[in-house]
Amino acid sequence: MEDEPAYIVEIDDLKQDGRGEAHGRAAGRRWLGIRFDCCNAYSRMYRNAGGTAYVGRCPKCARQLSVPIGPGGTAQRFFRAS
Ligand SMILES: [Zn+2]
Repeated sequence: MEDEPAYIVEIDDLKQDGRGEAHGRAAGRRWLGIRFDCCNAYSRMYRNAGGTAYVGRCPKCARQLSVPIGPGGTAQRFFRAS
C-alpha cells in the first residue's frame, strides 16, 4: 500500500478560466518537487499528457508515484513520498 498525496489545485489553470490550453503549453511544462524517502532521492514530477495528474519516478529504484490534479486539493508544490 502506498500513501498518495492529496489532490493538487492548479492555480495557473484556474486563472486561465479553462480557455487557454495553448497558453498553458507556452508557459512550459509544470512540475512539482518530490522527495522519495525510499532512496533518499529528490526528483521532479511532470504533468501527464492529459493534464489529469503529476507523475514521477524515483531516480534510484524506479518506483512510480502519481498525484491527481483536481479541485479542492492542496496548492502545495513540494511533496514527500514515504
Ligand atoms: Zn526509491
